[in-house]
Amino acid sequence: SLNKNNIVDWLYRCGDIFTTQCDFLTGLDREIGDADHGLNMHRGFDKVVEKLPSIADKDIGFILKNTGMVLLSNVGGASGPLLGTFFIRAAQVTQARQNLNVDELYLMIREGADGVVSRGKAERGDKTMCDVWLPVAESLRQASEQHLSMIAALEAACEVAQQSAQSTITMQARKGRASYLGERSIGHQDPGATSALFMVQMLLAAAK
Ligand code: ADP
Ligand code: MG
Ligand code: MG
Repeated sequence: SLNKNNIVDWLYRCGDIFTTQCDFLTGLDREIGDADHGLNMHRGFDKVVEKLPSIADKDIGFILKNTGMVLLSNVGGASGPLLGTFFIRAAQVTQARQNLNVDELYLMIREGADGVVSRGKAERGDKTMCDVWLPVAESLRQASEQHLSMIAALEAACEVAQQSAQSTITMQARKGRASYLGERSIGHQDPGATSALFMVQMLLAAAK
C-alpha cells in the first residue's frame, strides 16, 4: 500500500522533476503553446514543496487539499486551475486517510481525473493531460480488480502513461491554446500530458 509518507515523498519528487524537466516541458509548450508549461509546473510545485513541512504530519486528504490550493493560487494559465482541481477532488476521497490500497488509489486518481474533465471539458483524444489521467485511472481500476500489488499496479500505470503521452503526438488539439493551431498541432507531444506522465512516474518512485 501507499502511506502518507509516500504521498509526501511523491510531492517532493514532483518538485524535483519539474525543476529538472522545466526547460524540456517549456520546450514542448513552445511548439504548440506559449512556452510556459515547464515554468508553470516548476513554480507551482516549488510552492508546494515550501508548504510541505507544515502539512506533512496531517492525513493524505489534508495534504492533497493543501497541495491543490497552493497550485490553484500560484499557477496561472490552463494548467493551474486544472491541476488544482485534480488535487482538491483527489483530497475529497482520501479524507482522514493515512494509507491507501490500490483500489483507494484508483478512486483518488479517478476522482482527480473526473475533476479535470468537469472543469476543462476535454474528452479523450483532445490532446490534453486527460489523455494521460483517464487511461491511468482505468489502468489502476484493472490493477485493483486483478489484486495487483501497489508496485505492480503503478508499474502498469507508468507503462500506460508513457504510451498515452506518446499517443498525443498524432492527435489534433481540441482544447486549450494548442487548439488555435488546428492541424498544425499534430506532430507534437502535449506538454500537459507529458507533465502528467512525470507525475505518475514520480508516484511509482515514491512507492518503492
Ligand atoms: P497555458 O496553456 O494557459 O499556457 P500551460 O502551458 O501550463 O497553460 O498548460 C497547457 C496544458 O494544459 C496543455 O498541454 C494541456 O495538456 C492542458 N490543457 C489545456 N486546456 C485543457 C483542458 N480544457 N482540459 C484539460 N487539459 C487542458
Ligand atoms: Mg502554456
Ligand atoms: Mg500560459
